[in-house]
Amino acid sequence: MMMPILLSALAMTVIVALRYLLTSGGFAWLTTRVRPGYYAKLGSQMHSEIAWSLASTAIYGVPAGIIAWGWQNLGWTQVYSNWNTYPLWYLPVSILLYLLAHDTWFYWTHRWMHAPRPFKIAHAVHHASRPPTAWAAMSFHPIEALTGAVVIPALVFLIPIHVAMLGIVLTIMTIMGVTNHMGWELFPRWLVHSRVGNWLITASHHQLHHERYSCNYGLYFRIWDRICKTDRGLADAYQQ
Ligand SMILES: [Zn+2]
Ligand SMILES: [Zn+2]
Repeated sequence: MMMPILLSALAMTVIVALRYLLTSGGFAWLTTRVRPGYYAKLGSQMHSEIAWSLASTAIYGVPAGIIAWGWQNLGWTQVYSNWNTYPLWYLPVSILLYLLAHDTWFYWTHRWMHAPRPFKIAHAVHHASRPPTAWAAMSFHPIEALTGAVVIPALVFLIPIHVAMLGIVLTIMTIMGVTNHMGWELFPRWLVHSRVGNWLITASHHQLHHERYSCNYGLYFRIWDRICKTDRGLADAYQQ
C-alpha cells in the first residue's frame, strides 16, 4: 500500500512542478514581449525564485498526491465526479466558496507572517523579490509553502466540489499566483476599475503589497483588506 501512495505523491509533485514551470515560464516570456527589458537586471533574483518555487512544489505536491490516492482508492474527500450529485447551480457556488475560504485563510496567515518573527523566519523569502517576477509565484520559505499547501487538501474534506470545478479553482489559483507577481497588469483597465473589479485582486493591487509591505494582504478579493482597513488601492505605476 505504501508504494502506490508514494508514487501518487511523486507524480503530483512532478505535475505541480511542470504546472509552475509552464505557467511562470509562459508569463515570463510574455513579459519580455510586453515590457522588454523589465527583467533584464533580475537574473540572479529569478534563479532564487525558481529554486524556492521548485522546493515548494514538493510541499504542495505530496499532500495533494496522498489525498488524490485516497480519493481514488478509499473514497476520501467530498470531491464528486457525477454531475447530478448536487444541483447544477451549486457548481459556480462551490468555486466561489473555495475562493472565499482560501482568501480568508490567506489573508490572516499572511498578516500573521508580517509579524516581525514569522517575517524574519519565513515570509522574508517571498519579499526578497524586489520587484517580483512571474517566477516568484511559488517563491516561499517551506513554512509559508506549508500554510498554502494545506488549504485545498483541507477544503476537499469540508466542502463538496465537482472534480472539474476543482480544476477551475486550481487554474485560477495558478494563473493569479503568477500574474499577480509579473510586474504588469494583465486585465484591461475597464475590468480592473469596474464595480466588480474593485473587489478583485490583480497585479495592480498585489504589487503595492510588495512595495509597501503593510497593506493589501488579500489573495483573490479585497473584502478582508477593506473590513480591516488595510486596503491602500492600486499601484498606479503598473497600470496598462
Ligand atoms: Zn506576493
Ligand atoms: Zn507579504
